[in-house]
Amino acid sequence: MSTIIASATMAAGIDASAQDRDAVYSTYETYDGSDLEMTVNSTGTHFTLWSPMAQAVKLRIFPTGRNSAPEQTIDMTRGEKGTWRASVPERLYGKFYTFQIKHDGKWLDETPGVWAKAVGVNGQRAAIIDFDSTDPEGWDKDKGPAISHINDAVIYEMHHRDFSVHPSSGIASKGKFLAMTEQGTTNPEGDKTGIDHLKELGVTHVHILPSYDYNSVDETNLPANTYNWGYDPQNYNAPEGSYSTNPVDPATRVTEMKQMVKALHDAGIGVVMDVVYNHTAENDGSNFSLTAPGYYYRHRPDGSYSDASGCGNETASERQQMRDFIVNSVKYWAEEYHIDGFRFDLMAIHDTTTMNEVARELKKINPDIFVYGEGWTAGDSPLPVGARALKDNVSAMPQIAVFSDDIRDAVKGHYTDEKDRGFATGKPGLEETVKIGIVGATAHPQVDYSKGNNSKAPYASSPSQVINYVSCHDDLTLTDKLAKSLPGESVADRQRAAKLAQTIVFTSQGTPFMFAGEEVFRDKKGVHNSYNSPDSINAIDWSQKHDNADLFNYYVELIKLRKAHPAFRMTSAEDVAKHLVFDDMKGQTGLISYSLKDHANGDAWKEIKVVFNGSSEPRMIKVAKADWTVIAEDGVLNAEGIGSSKGGRLMVAPRSALILAREK
Ligand code: CA
Repeated sequence: MSTIIASATMAAGIDASAQDRDAVYSTYETYDGSDLEMTVNSTGTHFTLWSPMAQAVKLRIFPTGRNSAPEQTIDMTRGEKGTWRASVPERLYGKFYTFQIKHDGKWLDETPGVWAKAVGVNGQRAAIIDFDSTDPEGWDKDKGPAISHINDAVIYEMHHRDFSVHPSSGIASKGKFLAMTEQGTTNPEGDKTGIDHLKELGVTHVHILPSYDYNSVDETNLPANTYNWGYDPQNYNAPEGSYSTNPVDPATRVTEMKQMVKALHDAGIGVVMDVVYNHTAENDGSNFSLTAPGYYYRHRPDGSYSDASGCGNETASERQQMRDFIVNSVKYWAEEYHIDGFRFDLMAIHDTTTMNEVARELKKINPDIFVYGEGWTAGDSPLPVGARALKDNVSAMPQIAVFSDDIRDAVKGHYTDEKDRGFATGKPGLEETVKIGIVGATAHPQVDYSKGNNSKAPYASSPSQVINYVSCHDDLTLTDKLAKSLPGESVADRQRAAKLAQTIVFTSQGTPFMFAGEEVFRDKKGVHNSYNSPDSINAIDWSQKHDNADLFNYYVELIKLRKAHPAFRMTSAEDVAKHLVFDDMKGQTGLISYSLKDHANGDAWKEIKVVFNGSSEPRMIKVAKADWTVIAEDGVLNAEGIGSSKGGRLMVAPRSALILAREK
């Protein structure tokens, strides 16, 4: 009863404070049964909607995904724990459904609910399909790559459309999930593209930008070629229709996404999904609002939506039904689609308890699944800072990793100032921040965190908690950043900086992450925020692979080097503090030198010497006299060596990495 009285108070137009809301919501019984919201079994089709505040609920069954009158309208009956239930004594495969709730005396708009696993075109109605029939051949034996630690992964962040839509891709299913299933594709010059390109590059995981059903692309008008990154979630548990070859048929997108996962798994590549539970595309019109008004969101004291996402609202992971939703949703993707990892957008909008439960539950399904996220918000939140899944709180989330904005901004220059340079482009004073990146933001006796630009204290308990990168889909691509910050320099000189920047990322402790196409010097014509820019901005021109073959080969060797040498992949802060030893550069700016010593992390090499010269002058360093193999020098890198050296006084070419290794 208290629930109903409190609801009535809020409905009467009295501004409910945040505390009042929490008090009301905490009286709702939550429901975490696996039968939310629709199941099919031998006795028929069963519907269970969680909506404790609804006064009545109607279920409608339709013959098509849109533009049709209901075949049946059923009044649902109140069940236990805030649910409403209805059953139809037949298997309704091929049909569609919506819920409609009455709240505060008014019937809200129809909704497919929050748990639609298949949807009609544009996601307005949920679909009833037989999921067994969506499995590709061999799906029961399908498995992603085994990795023992997240930092054994090499992550490649890509958008389906960017990757395949350009004519030079040679791929038939342009902009579709199926693009990844095409073997033997090439650019006009004959270089490999598509999945063959990924195999050649050597990445272990692709991180796909949002691939759940999002709002912005009209699936009924795909020839319009609308582009969007997809950070506008609509149906969290169904794939996006515009990436399928037929969004009208609800099973097609499911089947084709599984085919994509299977093709990548068959190539030894895992799939990480970008998930955006922190906000929804709509406010009052979202599926959350239309099933349980108010409950799934945080609000300001005046009753308006709080907005830590910068997108108009933020979800409330601290509430049990929302927490269960996030946990069960990622579990569903892991189980039904065999997803190998999850990247949480604006993760700090979620609380640490939720994120720990996410990681714990996923590891039960498959211990190789990993979770990382953006350890920040895009605005202030009512969630207390101490509870937020922030970068600075990552030590409270032992199985979660966060992006290192430290290494990102220090290596290439700050993201908010396009002309700003970084260590790799000759700006002095960033050495200590780069070193924070090199040690994976762990405590290290030779790193002075007080000189760090972004972080003033070590935040990672182990290097497995940090994702190192210099660029991603957000902000300028590395190519564009180098063009803006090195005006007047040749492409060759900018590519020296690109090589140096990525050498720092790929040799650092932590997990390396790269943005698709950087290996072929892909640009976005200087556009910072290309979330809805046309293909002419976002598409990767694969002829650039031919033009920039030297850069591409450098990436291949760099990834090979990292994968062959566990010294770059230490798993404990103690090991990093013990085996990673910086050399004293005696105040020389633009120079960082360190050794990975004593067969670090079981490496076959006794010692690896890594030197970065970010300045535009050659620099002299002293290296112990020994039989060294030269791995990288003056913009050339080969994982097995390009020559030998006896050590002593060595010249490090401007804007380049020198890497030496010795077995004894
Ligand atoms: Ca959609």
